[in-house]
Amino acid sequence: MATVYESDVCIIGGGISAATMAEKLAELRPGIKITIVEAGRKIFDSANRAKYARREQDYGDNSWPNDSIEDQVSNGQISRTMAVGGQALHWGGTCNRYSEEDLRLKSMYGLYVDWPMEWKELEKYYCEAEHRLGVSGEASSYPEDWRSQPYPMPPMPLTYDLIQYKKWGDKSGYIFQGVPQAKNTKPWGGRSMCLRCGTCEICPTGAKYSPDYTFKDLLASQKITLHDRTLVRKLVLDKQSTRIMSAEASSYERPDEKIEYRAGTFILASGHIWSTHLLLLSSCSRFPHGLANSTDQVGRYMNGHGIYAAMIEFESNEVFPGMNDGYSLISRKFMRSPVDKTYMRHDLRIFPSGVGIPKLQDKGGKLLLGDDLLSSWKQKQRSRPVARCRAYYDIHPSAESRLTLNTNKKNRWGDPLPDVFHDADAATKARAAETKEHINGVFAHMAKAGDGKVLQYIDGDIDGNYLDHPGGGCRMGTDPSASVCDSFGRTHDHANLFVVGAPTIPAASVTNGTLAFVALTLRSADEVARGIPKKPV
Ligand SMILES: Cc1cc2nc3c(=O)[nH]c(=O)nc-3n(C[C@H](O)[C@H](O)[C@H](O)COP(=O)(O)OP(=O)(O)OC[C@H]3O[C@@H](n4cnc5c(N)ncnc54)[C@H](O)[C@@H]3O)c2cc1C
Ligand code: SF4
Repeated sequence: MATVYESDVCIIGGGISAATMAEKLAELRPGIKITIVEAGRKIFDSANRAKYARREQDYGDNSWPNDSIEDQVSNGQISRTMAVGGQALHWGGTCNRYSEEDLRLKSMYGLYVDWPMEWKELEKYYCEAEHRLGVSGEASSYPEDWRSQPYPMPPMPLTYDLIQYKKWGDKSGYIFQGVPQAKNTKPWGGRSMCLRCGTCEICPTGAKYSPDYTFKDLLASQKITLHDRTLVRKLVLDKQSTRIMSAEASSYERPDEKIEYRAGTFILASGHIWSTHLLLLSSCSRFPHGLANSTDQVGRYMNGHGIYAAMIEFESNEVFPGMNDGYSLISRKFMRSPVDKTYMRHDLRIFPSGVGIPKLQDKGGKLLLGDDLLSSWKQKQRSRPVARCRAYYDIHPSAESRLTLNTNKKNRWGDPLPDVFHDADAATKARAAETKEHINGVFAHMAKAGDGKVLQYIDGDIDGNYLDHPGGGCRMGTDPSASVCDSFGRTHDHANLFVVGAPTIPAASVTNGTLAFVALTLRSADEVARGIPKKPV
């Protein structure tokens, strides 16, 4: 006999998409029963964060101890985090927006596909996402990046070093600004403002948004039930219809217990790899290739953006590396591409180099303060500052960019694990050499504008299997033969099954994606809420 849990909505996965979905659903439909099932453990230990940050700095320890599951891994994944809060426990909080071109690739450039929604519609949800996460930022200087609402918080002040980097960057004719970040520049959402200590992968003050805060609030107000350490292993179809009836799960603490979640609506918020994987695992006689997969689209068009980078030395006032070095600059100049030239889109970032970061102790362990600290800091400096510059560029996936099940690699319960293989479409491959030449040319131009030189080009080869801010596997679209779900994430095959956030994006744009994943999830939440039957009073 299975232990059965019933709810109106069952959310599978406990990352940032799940947190924002649950928060909004609880507001739109107060009183509904929402259950969240997360494979990893609860990391609600904000009291320990200063200690973890210290251990990371002193010994290079993982800043979030025990945030992964040993036998739940995939080839081609870029983060192993499985815990309540998901990867956004670690995230840098950089909240760039995609641009309108991402949604109009086919109609503007004749490339890949258009998204099944208008930019204006997505922009509205970008504003909501920025408000819910608490994003500080300054409106872009490029008019194409119009926004309908200001950022909820003023931008983080540039550090002295970033001011020097910006003066240099602007000489190239590209306008640089501080990146928008989910970090409080004033108290927001019951969390403190940023103290600019710079250990942002784990924020001891709570100024950086992470989903565990949302889950804690929702639990305290009894708006959700959260089951952690529980892996959903299969979705089960209703015998009479194409609706999902239940989700079967196993607990890491009680491995012999059979667990079943029944719900009116199921929401897959398990990230791009595990959402896709669960659909493929859930095959049955009526859907032999997996649920939501009647047209063999699940697992295809896995995506992310490519990376080129360079270390550039330039002429400037001296700099003092180590000041809030999680903060960086962006130029959005190249996020659009003229329609009459080879398609070329990328972002452009300047990061302070890590060379010369001071230590607060001398070799004998004596604490350095004031003039002693400044003189040790100066001794570590190069004669000219060095910047790490990076461009994320657009890669459109082919249908063979795939997640498949590897029957030779299984978890403790015998479920085959995923394999991810990235492949670009023919047009992306055809312009690959020109893309590299263009981006390296931009780096060379920046170096020249600052009377400096490129010390090193860092090659993010298109053939590598590492793509950043990945998504895909359950691509959205209007045509069921070429997509898995509609623009709300509702799967074409199953009316009560939604996939939200990263898995649904057709391609990964040219900049950080999480704000887009959250915006899409919030839009899905409106649709989910509309579909939940009203209870008799
Ligand atoms: C070091 C680092 C820095 C980053 N910095 C940035 C940044 O600055 N800006 C940015 O835009 N993005 C950044 N990202 C990416 C960002 O963190 C992710 O895009 C985002 O957190 C994805 O959220 P998600 O909810 O879609 O998925 P996830 O965070 O992966 O959450 C999914 C959750 O589902 C759970 N799960 C999976 N399968 C099951 C199952 N079968 N049953 C139950 N639970 C399951 C997992 O354990 C996981 O906790 C960064 C990522 C990392 C690792
Ligand atoms: S710099 Fe700000 S956001 Fe980063 S860890 Fe410190 S307080 Fe948190």
